[in-house]
Amino acid sequence: MTIHATMTPEIGSGFAEISFAAMPTADAQHLWTGGADAYGLRPETFLSDGPGHPCRHCLRNIEAGEEFLILAYRPFPALQPYAETGPIFLHRTPCRRYAAEEIAMPEAVPQILSSPDYILRGYSDTDRIVYGSGAVTATGKIMERATELLARADIAYVHVRSARNNCYQCRIDRRGR
Ligand SMILES: [Zn+2]
Repeated sequence: MTIHATMTPEIGSGFAEISFAAMPTADAQHLWTGGADAYGLRPETFLSDGPGHPCRHCLRNIEAGEEFLILAYRPFPALQPYAETGPIFLHRTPCRRYAAEEIAMPEAVPQILSSPDYILRGYSDTDRIVYGSGAVTATGKIMERATELLARADIAYVHVRSARNNCYQCRIDRRGR
């Protein structure tokens, strides 16, 4: 396909056009100060026993001995049929929101993306799934795949979700969005 051929990113060029976005700090602050989750429930508190607990605000693992919240999160602005809500982890005490500048190397992804693969899925500017855009993607191909998807006019942003449990991890935007 022509699109694929022309949009295949080169190190240091195409990669710079996209950025990872964590949960907005306002959402995290709401939860840290006792606010209810997307289902109107109080977040549950647990103690991490090590790996496998990705915080959706700092996009780092919640290390053994750190407390964290489990809660229902809806990473969409409003209720509508495609506004999937699901479980996420969040540090219990305030952490610093992930900043795109933390990616030192062009091909690097946030620390929490440590599994072999993830679902990448495109959404429209009305927050609907763009059918055909979703695919399990090897972690090493996330930057390339996201760049391809965000080159399309019908895709406004991309969700990164776990490949096995479909849990929301973070979002990928065009830089400057
Ligand atoms: Zn955190």
